[in-house]
Amino acid sequence: MKPIILIGPPGSGKGTQATLLAASFAIPHISTGDLLRASKLDDATQEIVDHGGLVPDAMIMDMVAARLKQDDCKDGYILDGFPRTVDQAQWFYAHYPSPIVFLLDVSDEVILQRILHRAQIEGRKDDTIETVRERLIEYQRFTAPVVDYYRKEGTFYTIDGRMQLDDITDWIINLIESKVDTRYEASA
Ligand code: ADP
Repeated sequence: MKPIILIGPPGSGKGTQATLLAASFAIPHISTGDLLRASKLDDATQEIVDHGGLVPDAMIMDMVAARLKQDDCKDGYILDGFPRTVDQAQWFYAHYPSPIVFLLDVSDEVILQRILHRAQIEGRKDDTIETVRERLIEYQRFTAPVVDYYRKEGTFYTIDGRMQLDDITDWIINLIESKVDTRYEASA
């Protein structure tokens, strides 16, 4: 199936949705944030992540390329947290099949509440009020243009991220199932 991309501000629920969708379609959930947290980063990069900045595009592209080469990605995958800049989106466009893109739309107010709640549960170092503010600024500056890019270029849907978790998942699954099955298209 086509790659699935979930875009949304920090705290929009894209990680949760990506996990549910990956289980439902039996395809991998690739979160660049998780990949970074699982990597041994040099001090400068760690500093960027801890303060809510974006790490350099080239590093992310290398990481994503290495992950997508793995065998489990051949029948599709869900990207969460990537692409986060227009350069990342253009690089993806040049090298991979065209994706179905979902934007989880949530207000800044809801985001702050959710992330501060998550901070108590998960203890992520970058879940403080200051870094969340910084990540929202980075989102507006670098990732909002990615939304405009996909609005023009691709199969793109906006979802109200305040809906119930399960309703969002069902809605995405329905859209994907009505759109996708490329394995059959190939032999038609
Ligand atoms: P959230 O969506 O809640 O901000 P993520 O787990 O997606 O959290 O990302 C955590 C951090 O990892 C980001 O603030 C950023 O520093 C870094 N990061 C993740 N994905 C990317 C990316 N595609 N490009 C640059 N930096 C990234």
